Amino acid sequence: MSFRATVLTLYPEMFPAALGLSLAGRALEAGTWSLEAVQIRDFATDRHRSVDDTPAGGGAGMVMRADVLARAIDAASPEGDLRPRLLMSPRGRPLTQERVRELAAGPGAVILCGRFEGVDQRIIDARQLEEISIGDYILSGGEVAAHVLLDAIVRLLPGVMGNEASGEEESFENGLLEHPHYTRPQEFEGLPIPEVLTSGNHAKIAKWRRAEAEKLTAERRPDLMAKKPAQPVTK
Ligand code: SAH
Repeated sequence: MSFRATVLTLYPEMFPAALGLSLAGRALEAGTWSLEAVQIRDFATDRHRSVDDTPAGGGAGMVMRADVLARAIDAASPEGDLRPRLLMSPRGRPLTQERVRELAAGPGAVILCGRFEGVDQRIIDARQLEEISIGDYILSGGEVAAHVLLDAIVRLLPGVMGNEASGEEESFENGLLEHPHYTRPQEFEGLPIPEVLTSGNHAKIAKWRRAEAEKLTAERRPDLMAKKPAQPVTK
């Protein structure tokens, strides 16, 4: 059973774009996941095919209409569709690797991309959209945020990453930022590779990496340290 993504957008030409290349692109070709970009405008009913209108109460910008969005969502995700309905939104819960993992383990996702000032609140309430933010800054639309979300999900789908272990040791997976990496040449601009890494002593290497990861996390992301699981995750 492959992961099925449906993206509702005013710019379907923005897909698959980066998701059609490299790891995600190969997985798309292999059928590990599928991607359908739906043009929201196709669900407008008036002569001008309008999808937005001025904000009730006044103010700048335009708001995406609940009735148009409802038709688009209901067509893309009819009753019985078990996929979560997501709305990319700066007001949403910040995306975490944990939520990415949960989504990757599921049947897929229906992702609504906002534009303008955002969407009418009633569509969020009536279709129980889960709002997801990719960070505390404002994008011009949800499409790039949907790319971020899907890229993070797809690399976790079975068989997508060649080396499964690399997923488990990565930043956030064990509550820590990852340790630093080195590769050849042995010396670069007078800087050698830390000796322990070329020692061949795997226990020592694991210990060093763990210590480096903890140091880095304490310095840069003490907030992660606070919620770190107690048991060490070393291999
Ligand atoms: N007026 C809104 C911002 C609208 S930006 C506010 O102040 O909250 C237009 C659209 O871009 C949003 O509807 C959303 O779909 C998308 N977007 C912008 N920033 C985002 C972020 N940080 N994470 C996820 N989606 C975002």
